[in-house]
Amino acid sequence: MSTSLTLIEKLAREELVDMVPYQSARRLFASGDAEQTKRKVWLNANEAPGTGDYQLSSENINRYPDFQPDNLLNAYSNYCNLERSQILATRGADEGIELIIRSFCRAYQDSILICPPTYGMYAISAENHGADIAKVPLQKTPQGMQLDLDGLISQVGKVKVVFLCSPGNPTGNLLSKEDIIAAIELFKDTAIVVVDEAYIEFSAEQTSIDLITQYSNVIVLRTLSKAFALAGLRCGFTLANADIITLLSKVIAPYPISAPVAEIASKALNTDLKKMTQRVQDCNQIKTKLINWLSEKDWCSEIFASDANFVLFRCNSQQEKQRIFDTLVESDILIRDQSKQMQLENCLRISIGSEQEITQLKEVLS
Ligand SMILES: *Cc1c(COP(=O)(O)O)cnc(C)c1O
Repeated sequence: MSTSLTLIEKLAREELVDMVPYQSARRLFASGDAEQTKRKVWLNANEAPGTGDYQLSSENINRYPDFQPDNLLNAYSNYCNLERSQILATRGADEGIELIIRSFCRAYQDSILICPPTYGMYAISAENHGADIAKVPLQKTPQGMQLDLDGLISQVGKVKVVFLCSPGNPTGNLLSKEDIIAAIELFKDTAIVVVDEAYIEFSAEQTSIDLITQYSNVIVLRTLSKAFALAGLRCGFTLANADIITLLSKVIAPYPISAPVAEIASKALNTDLKKMTQRVQDCNQIKTKLINWLSEKDWCSEIFASDANFVLFRCNSQQEKQRIFDTLVESDILIRDQSKQMQLENCLRISIGSEQEITQLKEVLS
């Protein structure tokens, strides 16, 4: 830290002064004006291609919305087959992550556990709150990157919240359900196990949602940002037993879901479900073709198995990785560099955009 502090640096919580905020895809490459947004091919944030078509009524816009709007909760309850008392709608799954940490971890006393390489917001939210972060890295197996159960055993009693991501971001593969259950059992008296299912629609049969009723320490996170193509809406869901939802409801803001969000999200869940499943099918087909194409490239040394809407691959060398990334940027195609993550040297991640966008990417790299 510099020797002469500004007033704000003196007043701020000390640990925030040098903290680096989450380097979201959108911060690394701001979308800028509408022109730029259109010109660029965005394959760096696992968003879905295509635009939605929604009309808004502003009838009650002068009123505060319900704490948990009826139309939205009923729609998600129908979609996921849980009771309304087991659902909390939030400002994206990211808000769910933050609420969980704030509700279960005492600042400067308790810890969360993550299994890197994994989603960056668990660590960012923990840091913001002053929770410590224990790490048990994923292990490479013939079934993709999986949990290290022995490593997890060594953390029992030392952490309050365990974040598992299935399908994993940025790895792509599902965690074995047996291992998820084993982890839940391990921590059943000492920690909450969160299964982040942001990408579960791309392999929907593999959900852990059934575990919510079987174990009292399980939370599942969901979002409309990926398969539902509504990242701009900011709407996610925290699913858990009613006791956990009651607790989180004490910490969340009083009006977390704006009326327009509830209106659009309800429509997506009620009348546009077929569109979502079609989008998932299309994405999975384009993904398979991209994986086949990548496997023939001599600069590509490894392709990670993907159960989500993106593909992670490793390049032969650091130079090759940079060349591919920069070549794409020069052609206005943005993908995500994951090479700074633990175990992911020289790795890049491509979100599955439209058929046309992926074709464009292949042409530039050919
Ligand atoms: C995108 C993503 C989220 C955040 O989703 P939002 O609902 O947009 O906040 C959470 N977890 C993972 C693993 C993600 O990839």
